[in-house]
Amino acid sequence: MKTLVVFASLLVLAAGRPETRPNPHGAQVLRVVPEQASQVHYLRGLLLQGNYDFWTEPRAVGHPVDIMVRAFQLPQLKKTLSQVGLRYTVKISNVAALLSKQRAAQEAARASGSRAMDWTSYHTYQEIMDWLESLAADHPDLCKVENVGSSFEGRTMKMLTLGKGGPGKPAIFIDGGIHAREWISPATVTYMINELVTKRDTYDDILSNVNFYFMPSINPDGYDYTFTDDRLWRKTRSDTNSIFGCKGADPNRNWGFHWMEVGASDEPCTEIYAGSEPFSEVEMRNVRDQIIKHGSDIKVYLTFHAFSQLWMYPWGWTSALPDDWQDLDDLAKSAVDALTSVYGTHYDIGSSTNVIYAAAGGSDDWAKGEGNVKYAYTIELRDTGEYGFLLPPEQILPSGEETFEGVKVVANFVRNTYGK
Ligand SMILES: [Zn+2]
Repeated sequence: MKTLVVFASLLVLAAGRPETRPNPHGAQVLRVVPEQASQVHYLRGLLLQGNYDFWTEPRAVGHPVDIMVRAFQLPQLKKTLSQVGLRYTVKISNVAALLSKQRAAQEAARASGSRAMDWTSYHTYQEIMDWLESLAADHPDLCKVENVGSSFEGRTMKMLTLGKGGPGKPAIFIDGGIHAREWISPATVTYMINELVTKRDTYDDILSNVNFYFMPSINPDGYDYTFTDDRLWRKTRSDTNSIFGCKGADPNRNWGFHWMEVGASDEPCTEIYAGSEPFSEVEMRNVRDQIIKHGSDIKVYLTFHAFSQLWMYPWGWTSALPDDWQDLDDLAKSAVDALTSVYGTHYDIGSSTNVIYAAAGGSDDWAKGEGNVKYAYTIELRDTGEYGFLLPPEQILPSGEETFEGVKVVANFVRNTYGK
């Protein structure tokens, strides 16, 4: 009998876990705006508990926090929020309806697009990898594609090297898609690759003096899972030995620099599970090894996320700033000025901890702290919560266009500062 009771309560617990959520019927996204520091801290505690899916992280007083909540959780969350004096508004009233709308928009865009790769719809992991291979085949003097390892589920991870100056030129390492559901990230990164390759004459000066390493989708298992099972999946898909069957770690809490010290969880069912140890996730080891391999050539590391429109630099693990933070801030400002000049899109700039909140194990912290890449940035792309992760495909092109302007500023900076 006792066993039965225990088993039954385990089932109840498991039912509330993130793993069992492919169809978020009745789910809503609530927005709360903390008005006191104590409320920011409270929200941070709620995030660490892992019962709710935070679409944006608590930042500071006055900055909105978006929380996805399932129908059955709604009464409890409302009660919790009112106890600390937090009012909420409903940002997305019906997540399931928005999901179906976006699925239809994506299917319509795919039906009208004839080419294997375009920027009017989102593409699967395999399509992106095939496209990288086709670039290398069509432009052997400019592009090289290498297999750099396998994912947990056995997908091949590829890296594109772009440049015609030969080895030894200063380099920029760019990755995307570390969080599976942030579809605009691989879409924007591939847009930039396409611009550089198809307009190679326009960018001859950059391509002759700077090398680029591109890995547009570094969480392939999670990304595929967002196409096949759960559009809102964030983590990798590794086994965790969780008694609830929860899978995957947060790959951006998994990097081995001040790992697990702050803002991460050791509970596998949370969205911010740091993994069983630093670099427990093979996908992150594969990316790390490429950064180490190209070592001192890499002057800039850019990792693209969504959403919130932020251009951030280390540290994420402490509110202290790196000694050279002013250099990073200056370059970020120049890049964001160029980005904003295209469509007026506003971005905030600052160190991760001071713009968001402390969280250890991020790739940009590792790139700077262990990889010795001076200019390491995490960029949160569009939007500010209107659609969140479900950004309509018609925003891919404008996101790509404006972001590429910022990245060109970075590339010209590298060319002028480190080029010979
Ligand atoms: Zn992210």
